[in-house]
Amino acid sequence: MRIELATGDITIERVDAVVNAANSSLLGGGGVDGAIHRRGGPAILEECRALRAGHYGRGLAVGKAVATTAGRLPARWVIHTVGPVFSAEEDRSPLLRACYTASLAVAGGLGARTIAFPLISSGVYRWPKEDAIAQALTVLRDHGGSTVELARLVLFDAPTREIAERALTV
Ligand code: ADP
Repeated sequence: MRIELATGDITIERVDAVVNAANSSLLGGGGVDGAIHRRGGPAILEECRALRAGHYGRGLAVGKAVATTAGRLPARWVIHTVGPVFSAEEDRSPLLRACYTASLAVAGGLGARTIAFPLISSGVYRWPKEDAIAQALTVLRDHGGSTVELARLVLFDAPTREIAERALTV
């Protein structure tokens, strides 16, 4: 699997699957979640509501992933995953890595060949950006045997992109 970096708004990414940094409710939020629902239109929320009415009555657990339509986004699917809230007392990094692993598994199951990830947990959930990047790259680099050919990590701003570039070259 090839790894690429991009800067800016993930909702304009032309990939098969865009990953959403969702929350457990699956019913929308701020940050990436808000942007995806705004640009993707109501079809995404409709499917999320249907998920809540079915298998996901209690919502989506941290570290898991589930797909819906991408509505009006250029992508074909949105893969919703719920990152852990950062904690200084407890190492929740296995859960953060699980978000990337689970999203790739869902993408593979759908037949997606290209996927774009936001920097999960590094916004409202306060994960330090440098470590969030390290966790993401650990999973993406180890990901052999997947049918996904390209994973793009989308950093929202230039300073974060620079941190990711340094991490990618070591
Ligand atoms: P979380 O709740 O998992 O922390 P957020 O959506 O709050 O998720 O933030 C995750 C990361 O995505 C942050 O680094 C934030 O700056 C970035 N971000 C926010 N909006 C967008 C967007 N439209 N496209 C790409 N990245 C974004």
